[in-house]
Amino acid sequence: MFEKILIANRGEIALRVLRACREMGIRTVAVHSVADTEAKYVKLADESVCIGPASSTLSYLNVPAIISAAEVTDAEAIHPGYGFLSENADFAERVEQSGFVFIGPRPETIRLMGDKVSAKDAMKEAGVPCVPGSEGALPSDPKEIVRIARSIGYPVIIKAAGGGGGRGMRVVHTEAALHNAVSMTQSEAQAAFGNATVYMEKYLENPRHVEIQVLADQHGNAVHLGERDCSMQRRHQKVIEEAPAPGIDRKHIEKVGERCAQACRTIGYRGAGTFEFLFENGEFYFIEMNTRVQVEHPVTEMITGVDIVQGQIRVAAGEKLWFKQRDVVFRGHAIECRINAEDPFKFTPCPGQISNWHMPGGPGIRVDSHVYNGYTVPPYYDSMIGKLIAYGDTREQAIRRMRIALSEMAVDGIKTNVPLHQELMLDSRFVEGGTSIHYLEHKLADRNELQKS
Ligand code: ADP
Repeated sequence: MFEKILIANRGEIALRVLRACREMGIRTVAVHSVADTEAKYVKLADESVCIGPASSTLSYLNVPAIISAAEVTDAEAIHPGYGFLSENADFAERVEQSGFVFIGPRPETIRLMGDKVSAKDAMKEAGVPCVPGSEGALPSDPKEIVRIARSIGYPVIIKAAGGGGGRGMRVVHTEAALHNAVSMTQSEAQAAFGNATVYMEKYLENPRHVEIQVLADQHGNAVHLGERDCSMQRRHQKVIEEAPAPGIDRKHIEKVGERCAQACRTIGYRGAGTFEFLFENGEFYFIEMNTRVQVEHPVTEMITGVDIVQGQIRVAAGEKLWFKQRDVVFRGHAIECRINAEDPFKFTPCPGQISNWHMPGGPGIRVDSHVYNGYTVPPYYDSMIGKLIAYGDTREQAIRRMRIALSEMAVDGIKTNVPLHQELMLDSRFVEGGTSIHYLEHKLADRNELQKS
């Protein structure tokens, strides 16, 4: 096992990784920007290195500074967390070339999955069900493009191969709009991702977002840890996640999960990963793979008892998976609310000093947050300041515990989206379960209309 790990991230995930390391007896190095000098995990880490000014381009994305920090502190491995450099194949390569272990998949795997066209091809080959669409990238012949769209059937969606973060996509409802949409998406993709390649998929009109968590070692073993439902989204950003997904047949999950685990074995995947699917009319359709730990990993940890972050570290160190698929037992239900420093109704970010921070507790409640009394939320980064997770024997119990936890929570000095979560925990459609990815947007739009009238 490693003796020392450098954590190349910030915020709650930096603290999460630090806690995993401490439990495993591994020493930690926190790297931080000038703006995060006072962060809790920076103080808790065995060592810390300031890697640059507040701007993440100059700090958390500053590859030479991170590599030098690992060199001067004699760290053996680097955990990238999520966001920032976590899915950057060039970074993973630099880490390995500099003699450190990258806690994540091999750089080639990150590259393969980072290109959505090659990822989809690989998944199709591995027998993972995909959204019907073009065979790979769209050709340049306009007649061919029309033919492909007709064979898929409208509406279709044009997507950038290098896209991410919900950008580089355009829905097309009619043939008249097709060519314009393709060329606009191509030029946007070129400008945003440096890659003009686009592909086409059937546009699913009312799907749910259901994803499968996997964990694989370097010895050809892979398991799935079931699914998460992350359909409650605003602007393609997840707001609430839960496991298991309400109302989906366990046998179906097992089948798709096993396909994902098999795909990991086929491509030689290592580490934790997530296969994202759209789920509509009882079918799963693969859209992309995330080759890192996800924000929402705790709900899976709560219902399986598997520590995913420790799992990442153990397999990166070369250990074999310590359990088999049949040992994975799913028990109870877990829900996560992402707590953001933002206006709960207008969604504008709301950084600033937190004058009072009181977190809930009690059976089944978990809080993953780096925040403390007096902490100042810096304006430079993502607005998420923590995650509140509620576990129960049943979904109903998890919801009840979440309502109580939200009511006990006190955050003063800044605005948070806690009132939105309180409203959603009482929403009859959410309570029923199984809402689509458009539900929250529609609800918010209706509310705006009501306020206007
Ligand atoms: P990104 O990497 O930018 O997150 P994804 O491929 O994961 O891109 O898609 C992001 C979101 O876009 C999905 O969660 C879904 O809401 C929507 N989307 C993508 N592909 C389709 C599709 N074929 N049909 C309907 N919605 C889609």
